Amino acid sequence: MSAMLPAGTTIGIIGGGQLGRMLAMAAARLGYRTVVLEPQADCPAAQVCNRQIVAAYDDPAALAELAAVSAVVTYEFENVPVAAANALAASVPVRPPARALEVAQDRLVEKTFLNGIGIATARFLPVDDDAQLAEALAAFDGSGVLKTRRMGYDGKGQRVFRNMETVGFDGTFAAMGGVPLILESLVAFEREVSVLAARAADGAFAAYDPAENVHRDGILHTSTLPATIPPQTAAAAHEAARTILDALGYVGVIGVEFFAMADGSLIANEIAPRVHNSGHWTEAACLVSQFEQHIRAVAGLPLGSTVRHADCVMENLIGDDVGRAPALLAEPDVMLHLYGKAEARPGRKMGHFTRVTPTFPPS
Ligand code: AMP
Repeated sequence: MSAMLPAGTTIGIIGGGQLGRMLAMAAARLGYRTVVLEPQADCPAAQVCNRQIVAAYDDPAALAELAAVSAVVTYEFENVPVAAANALAASVPVRPPARALEVAQDRLVEKTFLNGIGIATARFLPVDDDAQLAEALAAFDGSGVLKTRRMGYDGKGQRVFRNMETVGFDGTFAAMGGVPLILESLVAFEREVSVLAARAADGAFAAYDPAENVHRDGILHTSTLPATIPPQTAAAAHEAARTILDALGYVGVIGVEFFAMADGSLIANEIAPRVHNSGHWTEAACLVSQFEQHIRAVAGLPLGSTVRHADCVMENLIGDDVGRAPALLAEPDVMLHLYGKAEARPGRKMGHFTRVTPTFPPS
């Protein structure tokens, strides 16, 4: 499929969370229909898409149905089973490609991939038992971040070691779940930034300005534009994103998280082969949001403008924060976005808002 998908045709989306919801809304605005595969009924995306297939992501009958009704299939989270993406790809284009999932699902594979294409990461060593942890910590002068290789998100499955003696880690491996781990060297970064970038099937590339991100309790709290980094650091972030997209033969939007160092250099932390929380600001401060950009790319449409017309700060509404919604609605410079989740559990992303300051005088 290289032609433009005609309006009225159906895009399949695997995953029905808020990102799937925002993708479905962007698709609708461009005239497309969407079918979402998600095991949880009445999920955020189900409320705005044309149809939900309520089944597990790896259910063969559901995947066959999704392939049958979709002109292209995309996804909203990186833990889509690779086997499911490959099964779909036999009968319908899957964008981004399954290879992007493979790389993003395992931190060891991801960092090896990034280093292989010339992109710096923290130093890293695989850890598969307590003895290897002691050796790896010794190699990194007693400091490091121990992470599960797979299924980690929002800082879950992580443990930080600082200036530790390299003895006495008995039980740590088991306490981390007895699953394959990776120890990363502790990066003394100045700030965290991320870039949302897109690649079209013909290789066209577009990138948004880097956002400066602040995390709280391991969850993204704010994304601020512009980031306080020099122009050459922003350019380097774009160049790294382009290198990653080209190496993967990628189609769609990707999120790349970096640590920005005091000397202006960047260290890549992780890639998210999907639209990303740190790109929500694009909805309020760009003509074409990350969601529309992703739909454009997977539907074979030309990529849109990434020009930013406002400075802005996006803030997540986590759990009970959603109670701030009425007050936020009263603020003239705020764009509010709620996800349609009934229950405000602690740590649950319920919505976000973006406070915008236009960067040009109104005419
Ligand atoms: P991650 O799940 O890899 O995105 O990590 C969650 C957060 O932990 C990051 O946003 C950083 O704030 C911090 N972090 C992760 N890895 C490292 C590292 N190697 N050095 C220092 N801080 C880290």
